Amino acid sequence: MKYKEAYELGCLRLKAADISDYKTDARLLLEYVCGTTYGDLFTKGESEVSAECEERFNDLLVKRSNHIPLQHLTGRQEFMGLEFLVNENVLVPRADTETLVEEVLKDLHDGMRVLDMCTGSGCIILSLLKFSNDCEGVGVDISEKALEVAKSNAEALNINATFIQSDLFENVEGKFDILVSNPPYIRTCEIEELMPEVRDHDPFIALNGHETGVFFYEKIVAQAPKFLNRGGLLAFEIGCDQGKEVSDIMSRGGFKNVEVINDLCGNPRVVKGFCY
Ligand code: GLN
Repeated sequence: MKYKEAYELGCLRLKAADISDYKTDARLLLEYVCGTTYGDLFTKGESEVSAECEERFNDLLVKRSNHIPLQHLTGRQEFMGLEFLVNENVLVPRADTETLVEEVLKDLHDGMRVLDMCTGSGCIILSLLKFSNDCEGVGVDISEKALEVAKSNAEALNINATFIQSDLFENVEGKFDILVSNPPYIRTCEIEELMPEVRDHDPFIALNGHETGVFFYEKIVAQAPKFLNRGGLLAFEIGCDQGKEVSDIMSRGGFKNVEVINDLCGNPRVVKGFCY
């Protein structure tokens, strides 16, 4: 089969399975098995795909048609221009979360100590460390398996970070200049309405914000002042309907200059405030 034919067949099969970005996914799976890049579709469309690649491509099309996330098939996801390893033990990094990283970078100065609570793949803390100088970064997660992924990412990206297994602040010591978190924030009853890629394949504990959705914001805000230096920043990613609720939690918790920041689509995406 020719490369272009394989791509077109992939598009048809994923479209029939109701995969929303079927063209992108077909192309990326084909590039993954053939070791090709975007340009090859235009320049090498007439070249033959080996029988082995065709078989692997078919196998991945079946899996993707069953709504296994693309990132679980390729084992990676780009975030802040960096490549992160992912698997079923971590939330797949989202473009939405880049808003949080970009916002924190505005207040991140050389030599600061930063804590990332609920670090998952480590995408937040590792990006912050990559785009700063001489900062010290700690990533915390309750899941040992998530931390294994975060550590592999630190190693693959050649970034020095510390990862701690801890139920929130339980095993955390010391003070930080910045505390950042994208905690689980989906109300339990809403999880079943999510797309199957998320509902069935992102770890439940990485999604579940308990009954109210704001369970982790309340817990983190209550303890954060103990772990923040004077003037320290607390910054959260939020669900787009949680701006007021999370701001109120932070203001009640004594945080100053609490602000909701929108993402590029204009949706509330980050809440931040300072500890005095
Ligand atoms: N901090 C990680 C991320 O943003 C994991 C978040 C989570 O598990 N809720 O991808």
